[in-house]
Amino acid sequence: MSIKITEKCINCGACEPECPNNAIYEGGKKWRMSDGTSLKKKNNSFDPTLFNESKKNNIYFIISEKCTECVGFYDKPQCIEICPVNCCIADPHKYETREDLLKKKFFLHSE
Ligand code: SF4
Ligand code: SF4
Repeated sequence: MSIKITEKCINCGACEPECPNNAIYEGGKKWRMSDGTSLKKKNNSFDPTLFNESKKNNIYFIISEKCTECVGFYDKPQCIEICPVNCCIADPHKYETREDLLKKKFFLHSE
C-alpha cells in the first residue's frame, strides 16, 4: 500500500531525502519516474525522463507509482518514521501486497 501525505504536512522537508525511491516531492515541483531510479531509457510506451505535473501545490506529496513502503530497502517506511507531525499514512485506496511492492522495487531499480 502506498503511503500518502495528509493536509497536516508542515512542509519541513525532512521526509524527502529519506525516501530510497525519490517518491516524495515538494509541493509545486514536477516529478519524473527517472528521478532516483534506474529508469533512464524510454521505450515505445513509456518515457521515464518526461516531467509530470505536480500533484499538490501547497504541501509535499508522494508518487504512489514510486512508493514501495520502503520494501527492499528498510524494515519500516522511512517517511512515517521521520515525519514530526505524523502526516505520512498508509493510503487504503492503494493496497499492494509485499510481493507487489517487491516487484515495484525491482522495476524501479533493475540496473
Ligand atoms: Fe518513500 Fe518509503 Fe515513504 Fe514510500 S514509504 S514514500 S518509499 S520513504
Ligand atoms: Fe510534511 Fe512530514 Fe514530510 Fe515534513 S516530514 S514535509 S511534515 S510529510
